[in-house]
Amino acid sequence: LLEVAGIGKSFGSTAVLRDISFTLDQGEAIAIIGSSGSGKTTLLRCLNFLETADTGSITVGGETLWSAADARTQSEAAIRKKRLHFGLVFQNFNLFPQYTALQNVMLAGQLLAKERPDYKQHKKEILAEIEAHARQLLDDMGLSDRAGHYPHQLSGGQQQRVAIARALALKPDILCFDEPTSALDPELTGEVLRVLRDLAAHKTTMIIVTHEMKFARDVADHILFMDGGVVVEQGPAKEVIDHPKEERTRQFLASYG
Ligand code: ATP
Repeated sequence: LLEVAGIGKSFGSTAVLRDISFTLDQGEAIAIIGSSGSGKTTLLRCLNFLETADTGSITVGGETLWSAADARTQSEAAIRKKRLHFGLVFQNFNLFPQYTALQNVMLAGQLLAKERPDYKQHKKEILAEIEAHARQLLDDMGLSDRAGHYPHQLSGGQQQRVAIARALALKPDILCFDEPTSALDPELTGEVLRVLRDLAAHKTTMIIVTHEMKFARDVADHILFMDGGVVVEQGPAKEVIDHPKEERTRQFLASYG
């Protein structure tokens, strides 16, 4: 489904990513691990077009969404459309504080619906459909009784589950998580990891940047270990975690006990 080839990115004279390549099949999950500053967040941002890579290409379902060779010819509107292939869940939830949980989940769908040619004619039905879908997603996240709550009235774990519902609302091909539990207290981490396990069990295609090694081993199909902006090792999750081939991977994993 996803093919990432030769992605490179520098900030000024600092190369943050070098020649990153990997593939991901439909229904699979890949966990990206690596120490702080290894470039994991920058890679996710490049995949979501929040950052423009300097080299390489990104292909989804056979369609080259982006390649460095023709990057300059892409309009902002075209990029926005391509971004819809990806859903992104941030470390700090990034919910809109002035909107309720339900409104947060509905917002992008409502904005997008306005571009439909039949919007004016069928506005009521379209909005009702968006609301029903959003309520279903909140329900799936175990939050049906929190739909009317504002972010500040929710725990961190609940906020993150709203953020996951929001990311799912536009039915992206690939769901990306940037350290989804690192801002949470340990007792709230479990409820978010449970949601991710559930999504994996339902064959959601996912890229998960995480420091939870046990979770990565158990839930991801593949692991990609990054260090200093390069992929040091990648392979089946259990193999990489239990029998790392590279010394640097061994050292990194040893630091997690
Ligand atoms: P962490 O686990 O701490 O989130 P990471 O592996 O996600 O780390 P990145 O956030 O991708 O790493 O950062 C990789 C490197 O790129 C770091 O050295 C960082 O300082 C640098 N960097 C990231 N964004 C920028 C930017 N906009 N301008 C300059 N340097 C940046």
